[in-house]
Amino acid sequence: MATSNNDVVYMDNNATTMVAPEVVEAMMPYIEDYYGNPSSMHTFGGQVGAAVKQARQQVATLLGADPEEITFTSCGTESDSTAILSALRTFPEKRHIITTRVEHPAVKSLAENLQAVCGHKYRVTRLKVDSEGLLDLAEYEAALSDETAIVSVMWANNETGVIYPVEKMAKMAKERGILFHTDAVQAVGKLPINLKELDIDFLSMSGHKLHAPKGVGVLYVKRGTLFIPFLTGGHQESGRRGGTENVASIVGLGRACDLASEKMEEENSRVKMLRDKLENGLLTTIPKAILNGNKEQRLPNTTNVSFEYVEGEAILLHMNRYNICASSGSACTSGSLEPSHVLRAMGVPFTAAHGSIRFSLSIYNTEDEVDFILDKMPAIIESLRQMSPFWAGEK
Ligand SMILES: *Cc1c(COP(=O)(O)O)cnc(C)c1O
Repeated sequence: MATSNNDVVYMDNNATTMVAPEVVEAMMPYIEDYYGNPSSMHTFGGQVGAAVKQARQQVATLLGADPEEITFTSCGTESDSTAILSALRTFPEKRHIITTRVEHPAVKSLAENLQAVCGHKYRVTRLKVDSEGLLDLAEYEAALSDETAIVSVMWANNETGVIYPVEKMAKMAKERGILFHTDAVQAVGKLPINLKELDIDFLSMSGHKLHAPKGVGVLYVKRGTLFIPFLTGGHQESGRRGGTENVASIVGLGRACDLASEKMEEENSRVKMLRDKLENGLLTTIPKAILNGNKEQRLPNTTNVSFEYVEGEAILLHMNRYNICASSGSACTSGSLEPSHVLRAMGVPFTAAHGSIRFSLSIYNTEDEVDFILDKMPAIIESLRQMSPFWAGEK
């Protein structure tokens, strides 16, 4: 299994996580033996239906929700789209959406498409953030209007780890009768969540960010919130999402939710300590290293550091030689050299935004790995700066 990757120092857990061995174990029977359709009438299928039901309960427990409020989807992206499109179809006369400038592409692109493809049918307010990535609630309050169909604000940012006050923001929306969605893909498993006490109508999560496999997600829909499905078809998921369930992955996600409850304490103590050690080490041993994002209001596992006058991609290539996995803030995947929209929204200067690296840890990381990275990084940055035309004279 993961044995061949034992030499990898994996600190890219906000991109995806290792499937926990306990999760693999829980899934195997539903790949090898129990292949029945959970909707079938026979006992063979019924056993599978019971496993899906148990997973729904496990997810509900982690979120402080009822099992009837949990719908399984194919990913976090599907959950985001489903929630927002449902609200727009529920209130066809309302043409305004409020979101932020730092959303994941799953929400960001949807909002852009609704503006562009739908011929300016929708007006989108993108809330600003300050230099630490924090929102201004006065701007939010002023943006809420009778025309607003839905607010969509992420619980925690995938690039910086900054946490947003969604509890309060949901309450403010609720007071005006406006639906509230949160992309909680990065928050679930890292922060305690009790949806029973909150005014959140829709919440998205994703299996592969929490040690379950890729290709399974969840949409929470609060009891009483009007809902219109995105995928129609059979009667699966109580008619909320057509398509035969990805049973093995759903079972794995249920198990991952149990584990997340058990490990949340460790995530917020040991993992946070490792993150802080890594961060402090980088900031103190490397000149012109800057932390991106508010230091306090932040996930325990994430640190985003800019190394001025070097390129993020170049840093990653050098780190890759030591099998250290992390992410850079520039959108290399899109083939452009644009720095990340999140760092741009924060006003991070060009020279720093290009050299940003995100390290995102998990419970599987060790102090030895942190020490290894701290041992390698100063020389990597120094060697790249020697080649940088912008660096000369900065020393
Ligand atoms: C990863 C991620 C998503 C997308 O989830 P998928 O399951 O990969 O579609 C959405 N939002 C945030 C904040 C994420 O980190």
